[in-house]
Amino acid sequence: MSSQPEPRNKSVTVVGAGLGGLSAAVSLKAEGFDVTIVEKNEKIGGKLNFLEIDGFGFDLGPSIFTLPQFFQSLWERAGKRMEDYVGLVPVSPHWRNFFEDGMVLDLYEDPAEMKAELDKLPGDLETHWKQFQEFLSYGREQYHLIDEGYFAKGLDTVWEMIRHYGFFRMAFKMDHRQSMSESIASRIDDPYLRMIFEYFIKYVGSSAHDAPGYMNLMPIIQFDYGLWYVEGGMYNLARGLGKLLDDLEIPVQFGHEVVSIDRSGKGVSGVTLDNGEKLTSDYVVCNMEVIPAYRKLLDEPEAFLDKLKKYKPACSGLVIHLGTDRIYDQLAHHNFFYSKNQSKHFDSVFQQGKLPEDPTIYLVAPTRTDPTKAPEGHDNIKILPHIPPIDPENPHTHEEYMALKERVIDKLERMGLTDLRKHTVVEDTLTPVDIERMYNSNGGSVYGVVSDWDLNQAFKAPKQSSKYKNLFFTGGSVNPGGGMPMAILCGQKVADRVVKQEGKSS
Ligand SMILES: Cc1cc2nc3c(=O)[nH]c(=O)nc-3n(C[C@H](O)[C@H](O)[C@H](O)COP(=O)(O)OP(=O)(O)OC[C@H]3O[C@@H](n4cnc5c(N)ncnc54)[C@H](O)[C@@H]3O)c2cc1C
Repeated sequence: MSSQPEPRNKSVTVVGAGLGGLSAAVSLKAEGFDVTIVEKNEKIGGKLNFLEIDGFGFDLGPSIFTLPQFFQSLWERAGKRMEDYVGLVPVSPHWRNFFEDGMVLDLYEDPAEMKAELDKLPGDLETHWKQFQEFLSYGREQYHLIDEGYFAKGLDTVWEMIRHYGFFRMAFKMDHRQSMSESIASRIDDPYLRMIFEYFIKYVGSSAHDAPGYMNLMPIIQFDYGLWYVEGGMYNLARGLGKLLDDLEIPVQFGHEVVSIDRSGKGVSGVTLDNGEKLTSDYVVCNMEVIPAYRKLLDEPEAFLDKLKKYKPACSGLVIHLGTDRIYDQLAHHNFFYSKNQSKHFDSVFQQGKLPEDPTIYLVAPTRTDPTKAPEGHDNIKILPHIPPIDPENPHTHEEYMALKERVIDKLERMGLTDLRKHTVVEDTLTPVDIERMYNSNGGSVYGVVSDWDLNQAFKAPKQSSKYKNLFFTGGSVNPGGGMPMAILCGQKVADRVVKQEGKSS
C-alpha cells in the first residue's frame, strides 16, 4: 500500500486482536476494505501478552520468534518496512537441552559450533554429524514442499492439496506414511538427538507420535531461518503491530466481547457486542477459535459441531513465571528438560488426557538476551510443560494442576536448579482454565488445533466458513495453524480468500 489502495466500499468486522486477527485486518485494509476490530480485552496481541511484577517482565505467551519472512510480507503488503516497527535479535545457542543423566547439549545454527557440540555424544562424531546433516536435508525438502503450496497458496483441504501438488508428489514426496517419531528413528541413531528432534513438535503443541513425518520440517524453521527475540521483549511485536494499525487508521474497539455473529440469509450481517451494540458489515473475520465461535457466537446445532470434532484442540500448558533472587548460570535463553520417558509423556498428554507424571519441560530465561527483564542479580524464569486441554466431561481440578507444578519444580531442582523454590521471590501461574478465559481458546489450547494424522491429516479448519459465505476464520484454529508465524501468515491468506470471494460476488 505504498499509494492508497482503491477503496472498495466494503466493510469487514474482525472479531479479536490476536495475531491472526491483526494480520487479517492489516491485509484487508491494504486491499481497500474498511476494517474495524473488536477485542474483548484491553490490549491487542491475544496470547502474545505480558505481565510486569516488581521489576520482572514476563512474556505470558510466545517466547520464540521464527520465520521472520512471514511477518515481513505483512508489512510489505501494507507498503511499510517491518524494521521501522519491530527489531529482532538473534538468539544463540538456539536451545539448551538437559537430560536426567546429566547430558547437556546445545543446538547452534552455525554448523561448526553444532558439530563441536555433537562431540559430547557417545559414539562416533562423524556418524552423528552425517546423520544430523542428512536429517536436516530431509527436513529441508519437506519444508520447501509444504512452503510452496500449503503455506504460499494458503491451501485448506486435502482436495486443494491434491489439486496443487498432484497425486505423485502427495503420495511419494510428502512424508506422511510414517509418524514424525518413526521418521526420526529411521534416520537418527542417537537417543538424545531423537528426543530433541521429537520435541520440535512443541512448535504446534502436538505429539511426535501422532503428527506426520513431514512435520520434521520444523527444525528447518530455526536452522535455516534463525531463532529470534523481539528487541525489548516479545510484546514489542504487538506494539509494532499497534503502530501499524494506527498508521493505517484501523480502529480497535477494546473491552467488548462479541456475543453473537448475526445471520442474514446464507451469510452473516455483522456482530452483536456484550453491551447490545450491533456492528453491521459485509464480511466478518473471526479470530475467536472455530469451535467456540460456532458454539457460542452462532449457536450451531450439535450435528454441525460434531463434524468439527476432528479439529481437536492442541495441547494447553501450565505456564509458571518465577522471579528468583539468584541467577541460574547454567541456563541458556531457551532450555528443555527432558522426560525420562518422552513416549510416556506424549501418551499421557495426547492419548490419555492425563497430567504427565514426568513431562518434558520448556524453560525460558530471557535475561540471557535482554537483561532488562529482571532486576540485577535476579533471574526471570518461565516454565511451560505441555498438558492436555480441558476435557469438559472430566476436567482436572486446580489441586491437580498445582500438584503438577510441584512435580515440575522438583524435577528442575533435581536437574540442577538448586533451591528453586527457596529462591523464588515473585510468582504467577496460568492454568488451562485461565488460558481459556483470557483468550476464549478451545479448552485452553495454546496453539489452536492439534496436528494428528489419523484424526485430521494435520489439517486445521478451513479459513472460509462452510456454512456462511461471508464469514472467515483466522488464527491458530485454521490452516496453517498455531504459532506466531502461522497466525500471521493465516491473516494474509484470509485476505486473499476474501478478495477472491469479492471477485465471485461482483
Ligand atoms: C504460553 C504460550 C507460549 C507460546 N509460545 C510460543 C512461541 O514460543 N512461539 C510461537 O510462535 N508461538 C507460541 N505460542 C502460540 C502463539 O501465541 C499463538 O499461536 C498465536 O499468538 C495465536 O494467535 P491467534 O491469531 O490464534 O489469536 P489468539 O492469540 O488466540 O487471540 C485471539 C484474540 O481474540 C480475542 N477474542 C476471542 N473471542 C472474542 C470475542 N468473542 N469477542 C472479542 N474478542 C475475542 C481474544 O481476547 C484474543 O485477543 C504460545 C502460546 C502460549 C499461550
